[in-house]
Amino acid sequence: MTPGPSTTTHCPYCALQCAMRLDTGPDGRLTARPAPFPTNRGGLCRKGWTSTDVLTVPDRLTRPLMREDREAELTEVGWDTALDFVAARLNALRAESGPDTVAVFGSGGLTNEKSYTLGKFARLALGTAQIDYNGRFCMSSAAAGGNRAFGLDRGMPFPLTDVADAQVVLLAGANPAETMPPMMGHLSAPTLIVIDPRRSGTARAALDDGGVHLAPRPGTDLALALGLLHAVHVQGWTDTDYLAPAPTASTTPGGTPPPGGPNAPNRSPESPRPDSARPPTCSAGPPATAPPTS
Ligand code: SF4
Repeated sequence: MTPGPSTTTHCPYCALQCAMRLDTGPDGRLTARPAPFPTNRGGLCRKGWTSTDVLTVPDRLTRPLMREDREAELTEVGWDTALDFVAARLNALRAESGPDTVAVFGSGGLTNEKSYTLGKFARLALGTAQIDYNGRFCMSSAAAGGNRAFGLDRGMPFPLTDVADAQVVLLAGANPAETMPPMMGHLSAPTLIVIDPRRSGTARAALDDGGVHLAPRPGTDLALALGLLHAVHVQGWTDTDYLAPAPTASTTPGGTPPPGGPNAPNRSPESPRPDSARPPTCSAGPPATAPPTS
């Protein structure tokens, strides 16, 4: 059998969205390798390198299973049988209690195409208003904070490559050296300050590069943040031009502040920026060991 097609895509696991190519081997198995992209610059972490392994694990669910009742054993059935059963139950529930009786729960791990299709299925096919996803609890507070601070609800209101322009980067409670290693390539030039109770891999990287590791005792991070704000304020380092006239979501009901505040450069978050030539610290070759299971 000859090798199959190769597809350029993104790693599905985390917000860095590293670019990768999926190659189909002669046996039909997919393998992942890095592709050039501004965030990962030709690197992947071990989760990306091993992302296709889940497709062939022996206990992967590839056929529908049903059981007669809750006590019965699961047995394999055909797709038509399973889909007819699901459709009949959904129709019966909607007929009994209305369309909102069925809720749909998506995932941040879905591709754009799957998210779009799931949203259409929920709103048009089911007619339900009950749709949510697994990022609600972990991200909605961050999105609300981002909106109030920067006028954007996304994780970073600027391209990751902009970090190379910073002189100092303060990371609070983040450990990209272990959670998204390709990001470390963007942090090697700025002075890095890491706030983390643990001496994490990122904290060690900061210290190795002449940066700072602040290790507050657990539960004192707010005191540290307020202390830093106080120091900035009493030293006169606040950007008063930025702060004084800024309409914010909290002071202007229904208003949406401009991204980055009123004095932010007139540049969209997606605007291209000059890239850094620094190599990523992540692996450019496959990992030697299996990825963590969590
Ligand atoms: S850092 Fe790792 S998990 Fe995140 S997108 Fe890149 S390869 Fe995937």
